[in-house]
Amino acid sequence: MADTIDVLISEEKINARIKELAESIDHDYAGKEIIFLCTLKGACFFACELAKRVTLPVFMEFIQAKSYEGKNSTGNLVMKLDVPEEAIAGKHVIIIEDVIDTGRTLSHVKQLMLDRNPASIAVCSLLDKHECRVVPFEGEYIGFSIGDDFVVGYGLDWDQKYRNLPYVGIVR
Ligand code: 5GP
Repeated sequence: MADTIDVLISEEKINARIKELAESIDHDYAGKEIIFLCTLKGACFFACELAKRVTLPVFMEFIQAKSYEGKNSTGNLVMKLDVPEEAIAGKHVIIIEDVIDTGRTLSHVKQLMLDRNPASIAVCSLLDKHECRVVPFEGEYIGFSIGDDFVVGYGLDWDQKYRNLPYVGIVR
């Protein structure tokens, strides 16, 4: 039987919020070049849509850190794809994430990138499940704060399914 998916955040709302986030980034980084460090696979839809709306020069880099199996965080983080140090050193880096949940992934990734001496580093996440934090972590740019439901769509998967939904939804 097909899964039922309830819409949590519509495509219209996501588009409007991405436009606002792009305006904030344009304002905060005026006159600078930015590196979007996109965390694969979940953040790729968000990163591309955001990059299209930022008017400053945006350079795209990709990393992949894996901590989830199915619907459960394993707590073990593995870097499956990394970037060379020179892609980060001296650059204004914005890590683009799909969702901040326990905070483990981004704490690890941010520290890894800070060790490479960027000119600045910030985190922009489409979603924030603030109540689920296990380690303290704050993103500088947040699209939407949500509860602790497992969500899919707009890049987020459930065992690789549902990434291409144009909205964020909850599998029932
Ligand atoms: P954290 O390390 O903050 O617990 O987890 C971050 C990662 O867990 C996200 O990048 C994402 O891959 C995955 N994740 C956390 N919550 C969800 C969710 O509700 N749906 C999906 N599809 N992935 C999630």
